[in-house]
Amino acid sequence: MEFDYVIVGAGSAGCVLANRLSADPDVTVCLIEAGSRDRNPAIHLPFGLAVLGKFDALSWGYTVEPQTHMKGRQPFWPRGKVLGGSSSVNAMIYARGMRADYDGWAAMGATGWDYDSVLPYFLKAEDNARGADELHGVDGPLSVSDPADPNPLSLAFVEAGQQTQLPLTNDFNRGEDTEGVGLYQTTTRRGLRASAARSYLSDAVQARPNLHIMTQQHVRRITVEGQRATGVELGGTGDEPSQRIGARREVLLSAGAINSPQVLMLSGIGPANHLQALGIPVVLDAPGVGQGLADHLDVIIEHHATTGVGLGFEWNIGFRMARWGAKWLRQREGALASNVAEAGGFAKSSPDLDIPDIQFHFLPARIKDHGRKWVWGYGFCVHCCNLYPKSTGEIRLASPDSTAKPLIDPQYLSDPDDHDLDVLMSATRWGRALMGAPAFDAYRGEEISPGAAVQTREQVREWILETADTVYHPTSTVAMGAADNLNAPLMPDLRVKGIAGLRVIDASVMPRLVGGNTNAPTIMIAEKAADLIRQEA
Ligand SMILES: Cc1cc2nc3c(=O)[nH]c(=O)nc-3n(C[C@H](O)[C@H](O)[C@H](O)COP(=O)(O)OP(=O)(O)OC[C@H]3O[C@@H](n4cnc5c(N)ncnc54)[C@H](O)[C@@H]3O)c2cc1C
Repeated sequence: MEFDYVIVGAGSAGCVLANRLSADPDVTVCLIEAGSRDRNPAIHLPFGLAVLGKFDALSWGYTVEPQTHMKGRQPFWPRGKVLGGSSSVNAMIYARGMRADYDGWAAMGATGWDYDSVLPYFLKAEDNARGADELHGVDGPLSVSDPADPNPLSLAFVEAGQQTQLPLTNDFNRGEDTEGVGLYQTTTRRGLRASAARSYLSDAVQARPNLHIMTQQHVRRITVEGQRATGVELGGTGDEPSQRIGARREVLLSAGAINSPQVLMLSGIGPANHLQALGIPVVLDAPGVGQGLADHLDVIIEHHATTGVGLGFEWNIGFRMARWGAKWLRQREGALASNVAEAGGFAKSSPDLDIPDIQFHFLPARIKDHGRKWVWGYGFCVHCCNLYPKSTGEIRLASPDSTAKPLIDPQYLSDPDDHDLDVLMSATRWGRALMGAPAFDAYRGEEISPGAAVQTREQVREWILETADTVYHPTSTVAMGAADNLNAPLMPDLRVKGIAGLRVIDASVMPRLVGGNTNAPTIMIAEKAADLIRQEA
């Protein structure tokens, strides 16, 4: 089998590429996804988020390496393994980050990725229910809408933010500065999740004769001949016969921030000493592959609720589900249409900062262990994360076997000057102030986490080391940058330096984390990449 373009991974980026490239009937496109089709209804019902963690088949089920600076803990990292990738299992918050993020990318050598250059691609992707203006689009495939029926606790959070001197905002995507509190817009429409698959791979797109979609097919490596990528090999373990898919023009690697560097290294493209130690023939010594791993680390302030207005599980859950189901069927609204993390905002750990460095995700619910465990009773919590970590880590291979999980080491809180810990200390103070605001007086029960016993600086510090966790935004493991930047394996046009016919297009390519959630930025990256590819073809 041979195609013009072979796309590895049908996640946020891969679905965009498949749609945009196959729009040209003169080219052939093959989209290869390791996971299955997105048939599980819990994917499509926004509230399904609360139970998605229980479906092991939808996730790669990664656990990170023992975190030296967090008492050796090994946080769980869910990543979507299904059509739509992580956009099929994420919390649907639509937040792009700030102008300074993209201008920062450009200053780091990612020429052409400054805010003014990327804004048109956010708009191109978007179909915002509020209508079009200079910052929002309506003609794109990606539905963005407001929560139709926010929970009273989410509204209390917004009020609490104003009571703690944060401005009210009705749009976190104004670009310049996101400081404030409000309700998030979400990638949903009419009570359904707008995953990248649902948005970009409609039935009409899937029916295009020049687009071939393969699911449950694991790409084990990229084939390279004479420093040119020629295709991919599919198949399981070393002994299994593999199938080869040829790429006449380009292989586009969109396997996400963990698997894209993994596939590159399995193909012999990565740090030579690491590959040699594993007996993998070196095709290209690319020391930056797998390096620079960054993530938003998070602390959670959690309370019992004294009332049943939140989204809790109790003896009457069957009755409530029936009521929620009826409302969803009638109006596509209510709890089942909720992404749970309806409200949130951005704040500064220090007033002299130019832009916020803390993000809040408020949940009118208690979620334990990434939704993998049931929590009985009513409660609410605010996740508070550090947007610009100085600690960065790496992805390495555990083995040359393509089915082995890679070693994921974010090296959380490893920065020597304790900047990241200080931001989380401040984030904890912010979270407690928000939860303690008068707006929650009618609802607030006992503080579960950190808990009344955790008060001194030392106690809070220990609690952070014992509980801080991912908010699911790994990036920057195959970063783009200037031609002479050895730590950046990609040129700003996302081509792998030193290998022809190969680009990486997904969250890996971000030179630095953005100050917000990463789905919309990844979709923007793929929109811009599709334009670059089509212009060059
Ligand atoms: C639980 C969770 C909640 C989140 N919440 C939000 C949120 O509310 N808002 C937001 O903006 N962002 C959120 N994110 C982050 C966001 O979804 C991701 O940043 C984004 O989806 C990354 O897109 P990607 O294309 O880089 O990777 P992915 O979407 O993960 O796609 C990679 C795809 O490649 C496939 N693949 C990997 N390896 C192979 C292989 N060897 N062969 C074939 N296929 C392969 C994978 O199965 C997957 O489908 C969340 C993420 C998670 C996991």
